[in-house]
Amino acid sequence: MARKKIVAGNWKMNTLPAEGVELAKSVVAGRGEVCECVNFIVCPPFTHLSQVVEAVKGSDIAVGAQDCATEAKGAYTGEIAAQMIAALGCKYVILGHSERRQYYGETSETLNKKMAQAYANGLTPIYCVGENLEEREAGNHFAVCKAQIEEVVFNLTEEQFANLVIAYEPVWAIGTGKTATAEQAQEIHAYIREVLRSKFGAAAEECPILYGGSCKPSNAAEIFAKEDVDGGLIGGAALVAGDFLAIGKGF
Ligand code: PEP
Repeated sequence: MARKKIVAGNWKMNTLPAEGVELAKSVVAGRGEVCECVNFIVCPPFTHLSQVVEAVKGSDIAVGAQDCATEAKGAYTGEIAAQMIAALGCKYVILGHSERRQYYGETSETLNKKMAQAYANGLTPIYCVGENLEEREAGNHFAVCKAQIEEVVFNLTEEQFANLVIAYEPVWAIGTGKTATAEQAQEIHAYIREVLRSKFGAAAEECPILYGGSCKPSNAAEIFAKEDVDGGLIGGAALVAGDFLAIGKGF
């Protein structure tokens, strides 16, 4: 079964518009060195989504947002609707990133609404799950990921599920330089797929599950070689075009 191979860059709150455009153009320029089988996605801040969409035009690099609103439109000062993101030409939206869960109080309840908005506007969610250090040390990582999937992904229709990307991101590995071992990643990716299979059956075999957490050129190949790891959601290393592309060479 050939699942989609994905390398997605989460730029977080980094780059000014001109820097983001330059970064995107550098990714486009070097893209030819990496297997066509790799699907690259870049997720810049909202402020320059439009310019980055323009910068990658004509290439196969897709653009995603890092979040979207729970509501379709209206009096929600400061929010960005999924419809607005889609109108710019974005194809993806990251939802449930641990930084949003941790700092902005994202819950399964808000994420269910955001997922619905994403699908209503033709965006593919990259839904993030993962445990923190305390949960890992207590051996609760399986239960945490299962709950994050059951409470949100299990509410999707089969059609919606067929258009979903999951990112497993252990919080203790994000931006810390600590990476899960390839074995740890495989163990939990396989478990996540088993949870998905219990609800969606064979369709679970098609769902890309990305690893995220200090993934870099030096460790990508080992992690991506694992059966249930279908690529990466990349933070820090996505801000350097050469590193981001080199991670794609890890397949
Ligand atoms: C992330 O936050 O999605 C991430 C994986 O960050 P980093 O690669 O910097 O650990």
